[in-house]
Amino acid sequence: MNDIINIDKKYVASTYNRFPIEIISGKGSIARDSDGKEYIDMGCGIGVTSFGISDEIWKDAVISQLNKVQHMSNLYYTEPCAKLAEELCIRSGMKKIFFSNSGAEANECAIKAARKYSSDKYDNTRNIIVTLKNSFHGRTLTTLAATGQDCFHKLYTPLTPGFISIDAENTDEIDTLKKRNDIAAIMIECIQGEGGVNTLSHEYIKKIEQYAYDYDVILIVDEVQTGNGRCGALYSYMNYGITPDIVSTAKGLGGGLPLGATLLGDKVKNIFSYGDNGSTFGGNPVSCAGALSIIKRIDEKLLKDVNKKGKYIKDEFSKSKCVESVSGMGLMIGIKPKGDAKKIVGKCLGNGILCLTAKDKIRLLPALNIDFDILKKAVNIIIKCIEEE
Ligand SMILES: *Cc1c(COP(=O)(O)O)cnc(C)c1O
Repeated sequence: MNDIINIDKKYVASTYNRFPIEIISGKGSIARDSDGKEYIDMGCGIGVTSFGISDEIWKDAVISQLNKVQHMSNLYYTEPCAKLAEELCIRSGMKKIFFSNSGAEANECAIKAARKYSSDKYDNTRNIIVTLKNSFHGRTLTTLAATGQDCFHKLYTPLTPGFISIDAENTDEIDTLKKRNDIAAIMIECIQGEGGVNTLSHEYIKKIEQYAYDYDVILIVDEVQTGNGRCGALYSYMNYGITPDIVSTAKGLGGGLPLGATLLGDKVKNIFSYGDNGSTFGGNPVSCAGALSIIKRIDEKLLKDVNKKGKYIKDEFSKSKCVESVSGMGLMIGIKPKGDAKKIVGKCLGNGILCLTAKDKIRLLPALNIDFDILKKAVNIIIKCIEEE
């Protein structure tokens, strides 16, 4: 075992069960470890490096901003923050952006905006946030409360009050909500990522949108993982033809630097005034400059390609007798193998592929611009690992 692994084990809090390799460099969809072994990166740091490792265009944007100013307090204006906000609003139809540093923080802001809308317009007892079972919304105490999975809750009670979770795809539960007068917001992922790459149905999501509209409940779509081109649209809700009131995003937005964004729609666009929310690092000019370069590259042509590659992956895995099901959209794919997903992912690592799990599935989140030949190679190796397990 190399030095770095020993130092890390000794000094870094043991919250991550890391694989025993040290990644030192890479290019595009190829990562390299300290022994010089190469891997095809089918995880992108959990959907973060949207255009791969050490991507030239993203690096140019980041370095050119680094050479100007690396950080400024939010007491002053900076160009990348303003330009990124403008681009996100033009492309999504949302009206205002609050920037933070992570998905959890983007969701915290979404929850704050929804609660403030509800208490401003009604009263502060109308404060419940509804989420779905199996969802994942982050690791802060409030976003853990929002996360509809008991396994995340028990260590850290009491969590923030005011959250309930309902079964996804059960429209009776939505009808039950209609009888309550204390609901401020409903928060969903259109494709649940950590929960197992579960794609919600068109009908169900439309039903949620209708309920939210009819009852003046704020509809929050968590696009932390699904957003920024990952699911074959700029944001996954666009595949469903719905209009959320709030969209949160992070992961792939910054392309590898920390950045969260909460997109505020018409209803809540003026919900915050001076001092109502804030973040020291939020809207960092280097992160925003990189993100702007990424959002600008996510055009119709790229998205078509993302969908084509996603379809290829789905078709290939569906052919295998050792695969029970394939789920997801665009380049966010879940594969349910007959064998044990964690073991298979370990085996893939040994065979030069970095990939992820999500519950009992293998999860793939390759770079949006992954080279087709590299993708084919990775798919063939993963299928072999599944069939040998
Ligand atoms: C990863 C994730 C989060 C949390 O993001 P962090 O940047 O780790 O705080 C929230 N929601 C979803 C859907 C995610 O996939």
